[in-house]
Amino acid sequence: MPVAETDPGPSVAKLETIVSLAKRRGFVYPSSEIYGGINAVWDYGPLGVELKNNVKRAWWRSMVQERDDIVGLDAGILMHPQVWVTSGHVGSFSDPLVECDTCHRRFRLDELPGVEGLSATELQDEGIVERLGLVCPVDQGPLSAPRRFNLMFKTHMGPVEDEGAVIYLRPETAQGSYVNFKNVQMSSRKKVPFGIAQIGKSFRNEISPGNFVFRMREFEQMEMQYFVRPGEAATQAFDEWLPARRAWYERYGVTPERLRFREHAPDELAHYAKKAIDVEYRFPFGWKELEGVHNRGDFDLGSHAGASGENLEYFDPVAEEHFIPWVVEAAAGADRAAFTFLIDAYHEEQLEKGTRVVLRLHPDIAPYKVAVLPLLKKRPEIVELCHTIKGDLQKDMMAVYDDTAAIGKLYRRQDEIGTPWCVTVDVDSLEDGAVTVRDRDSMTQERVPVENVKRLLMDRMAAAREA
Ligand code: ATP
Repeated sequence: MPVAETDPGPSVAKLETIVSLAKRRGFVYPSSEIYGGINAVWDYGPLGVELKNNVKRAWWRSMVQERDDIVGLDAGILMHPQVWVTSGHVGSFSDPLVECDTCHRRFRLDELPGVEGLSATELQDEGIVERLGLVCPVDQGPLSAPRRFNLMFKTHMGPVEDEGAVIYLRPETAQGSYVNFKNVQMSSRKKVPFGIAQIGKSFRNEISPGNFVFRMREFEQMEMQYFVRPGEAATQAFDEWLPARRAWYERYGVTPERLRFREHAPDELAHYAKKAIDVEYRFPFGWKELEGVHNRGDFDLGSHAGASGENLEYFDPVAEEHFIPWVVEAAAGADRAAFTFLIDAYHEEQLEKGTRVVLRLHPDIAPYKVAVLPLLKKRPEIVELCHTIKGDLQKDMMAVYDDTAAIGKLYRRQDEIGTPWCVTVDVDSLEDGAVTVRDRDSMTQERVPVENVKRLLMDRMAAAREA
């Protein structure tokens, strides 16, 4: 099992620091806060929605835009209920739940203190609570024996709320790609191997959500299903996708030492998986899954073909062969990825005049690419030039204007939200038609003619993307 040689220690940022920055600067707020909030649902504020959109765009760029063999799809959240029976979710998409007899809090058995290191088989032992003497981690009360708790949210379709109208909010986007396999393959005329990529909301009634946006009940996934010939081709595709997915996080700035692979033990594998390796990140609360790469064999198309009666075989015109393609899946979370970029980018630097908080976000991920700032907001000509520059820049990138503080403070504010460049207009700009471009990371400043600013920023963004 390939894991990091050395543990790089806890991440630079504490969870509380990130949560507080996220709230204060408008990245993430608790949902329905004025009513006391709702557990495990979070809302993205003005900066958060930019950040998450950028993460999704960067994923789409590498998965769809830059590839000839992958196409996109946006399937519905609500699907035919049979989909979830066939996929195995109705039968086995569950976690082991235990309940405290005194406070009635519910916990995921595998997350209780005292069960670390136990195998999936050991966790299935009905007498485990007694055998290990497990108690409620909150009030030390006695715990019930574990029972399976299905994580799918149920609702009713149509006006009649009876059993026949039950449908589910999807717990993953992947099934949309399987049931559309034939549609996509025929309409896009793709030949195996090819992939279907999807980004969209998924819902899981998690027993113990937490750690901010790490585990939510409503979240967004970025999943790609790659359809290949059976057997060896799937092993090969798996071996190629795994490092490629890790490289994507590194390409967008995640510290390599804070990423590692973790292979699922045979008794931990999901019912559909032949092999599964997680890309893990060293979160402030420990090593946790960021993304899973799975070899799912022919389970998905084979099961849906069997249950629906549709022929989901692919005909290979070269080998003149019919077969059910195998699937290699790269399943990531948009929220977890955005969270990771945020944590990893967070830096505190000691400067002569105090501490500088800076988010060293990759320019493609940063919410704003540039801030246009006046050195003197009392001079209308300076403010006007700022607005002209900003108006021109915002045709091509997210740009912001701010004049609500002195320049030093304005720079700090932009550093704290990760804006890679600031453009400052001063009195000299009115004479020489040049402005100061300040770099977030090096804090260096250079004088640039106004007409060259956009080109300079676009070139820097392109260079960062290629780096
Ligand atoms: P975990 O072990 O953390 O519950 P999982 O193995 O169930 O995750 P998958 O079903 O493989 O996760 O889902 C793919 C990706 O979707 C995960 O790697 C993660 O990034 C994201 N994801 C899954 N569940 C959640 C959740 N409750 N909140 C936020 N993101 C999630």
